[in-house]
Amino acid sequence: MCNNFNKKFLDEAAKAIQNNDYDSIDDHEYFMNEAVKTAIQGMNNNEGGPFGCVIVKDGKIIGKGNNKVTSSNDPTAHAEVIAIREACKNLNSFQLDDCIIYTSCEPCPMCLGAIYWARPKKVYFGSNKKDAANIGFDDAFIYKELPLPYEQRSIPFEQINRDNALKAFKLWDEKEDKTEY
Ligand SMILES: [Zn+2]
Repeated sequence: MCNNFNKKFLDEAAKAIQNNDYDSIDDHEYFMNEAVKTAIQGMNNNEGGPFGCVIVKDGKIIGKGNNKVTSSNDPTAHAEVIAIREACKNLNSFQLDDCIIYTSCEPCPMCLGAIYWARPKKVYFGSNKKDAANIGFDDAFIYKELPLPYEQRSIPFEQINRDNALKAFKLWDEKEDKTEY
């Protein structure tokens, strides 16, 4: 049954590619299914949590990632971050022009930030943050921290030596051969 399910998506995707129709709803289902498959594979390999992501440009997957936080001892190794890194490497670019991100779950605040920096054209997500919270992946607390005064955050933030830090900004401002982004 599972194989038939996948075959249906593969057949539809092959048809859509033949017809050069990259925006059909079937494509979206196919790529979302790829993101979910990546999530399940990674989880079954004990690489990390049940999250997967694929990045698509011109109907082709150019980046793929699954959560690898626990296996790589990297708290930033979320599916979306890994997929963004791979896609940018493949594009040889620091932004995802005209790319579509398919992620198996609504992005956490870190990945949301990474996605905005990467500037794709659109994001599709499968399950949402409430679904994630239901199985113990609750990122709502980070959203609640954002508007709090620095000293009231659960990890206190404190500004020190601003004048010293501003030297780097002054040098950047004056740098003539910089790559803006
Ligand atoms: Zn994330």
